[in-house]
Amino acid sequence: MSKDQANNLQDFQIFGEFGGVNPSITDSATFTFLAAETMEALFDHEIKGCYLYSRHLNPMNDDLARAIALLENSESAQVMSSGMGAISSAILQICSSGNEIVSSRTIYGGTYAIMKNFLPRFGIDTKFVNITNLDRVRQAITKKTKIIYCESISNPLLEIADIRELRKIADEHGILLMVDNTFSPLCVTPIRLGAHIVVHSLTKFINGMGDCLGGVVCGSKEFITSLKSVHDGAAMLLGPVMDSIRASGILKNLRTLHIRMKQHSCNAMYVAQGLEELGIKIFYPGLRSHRQHELIKGMLNTEFGYSGMITIDAKDQKTANKLLIKMQEEKVGFFAVSLGFYKTLFCSPVSSTSSEIPIEEQKTMGMTDGLIRFSIGLDNDIERSFQRMKNCIKAVGLV
Ligand code: PLP
Repeated sequence: MSKDQANNLQDFQIFGEFGGVNPSITDSATFTFLAAETMEALFDHEIKGCYLYSRHLNPMNDDLARAIALLENSESAQVMSSGMGAISSAILQICSSGNEIVSSRTIYGGTYAIMKNFLPRFGIDTKFVNITNLDRVRQAITKKTKIIYCESISNPLLEIADIRELRKIADEHGILLMVDNTFSPLCVTPIRLGAHIVVHSLTKFINGMGDCLGGVVCGSKEFITSLKSVHDGAAMLLGPVMDSIRASGILKNLRTLHIRMKQHSCNAMYVAQGLEELGIKIFYPGLRSHRQHELIKGMLNTEFGYSGMITIDAKDQKTANKLLIKMQEEKVGFFAVSLGFYKTLFCSPVSSTSSEIPIEEQKTMGMTDGLIRFSIGLDNDIERSFQRMKNCIKAVGLV
């Protein structure tokens, strides 16, 4: 199953203008026409091979979007300037004033904040639920609900959303299931499991170089076409457009994603097992001790593993802060937010990526101030890196 996506991507060939091995970068904001009728028609519908203005469509961004549609097994896709650009555009395309979203409560802090603080200004309210409790999801849905929203592997507690079951619930109510798959590209293919729409922050594993921001929305041809509509498309009218030079870079980096994901997962499994043996409280879906290990096993494209994200509980914030600094000093990796980089990155979610979530709500989710989130890197010698990590853990008195 997983091989299909990687193979489809491998066979996806786009040549440059002069037979280049990479497609040519679109260095134009606008495009010329040879007939007035064609321009008029393009304002009404897309015409293959015809481009109007780069906020609407441009060839390089289309190439990247087609590649990601293959990766996510979707009919179509649209790339955006950031993950938040993708998430906000997709939601605003679906929801109007008076509508509701039922969302997992453990999601990236920025997504939480847009739902909790920003969308209510436009009459769109969100009910946050424990996504692992399907009865709660069902109870939260009303006639106003348009979307069930979750992350396949959630940020930062690494909870697993049961996409197959959530799709059944969405179908019972004729609503859409939107899944953020940023933590697990290739490892999980949400559309194959039933998701209607998949979003990604390309900033993370997919680009993997930590050098730019990007986002994507994957879905049906009809939905992606509606996002781009010159009349009422959120992507076209809000304008979170990816620069085509960046799109070119991301497409090249996408070519090595299969190798990188295997290495991230393999290294993360090594570190997770080592930390568990040390007696550290750890969340990693690849460990048997993860309470949803069996669920993720049934959703996984096994050859790519359980992805590179690990969260540990360092007991209290003071110890966590000492450990973050110590690990950076000892060259375990960088004390930085974000993920999917070649280097191991670590941060304290409570005071960074999840700080938008009020403390009381963090507590009900099971988030403690001693949490440290790791994005395990591509280290060639993970044994050496783990040894360093172990020394740091001992030095701060965690074990
Ligand atoms: N989704 C997840 C799971 C994230 O972790 C992030 C950012 O950290 C985003 C979305 C937002 O992406 P971006 O920073 O590219 O806007």
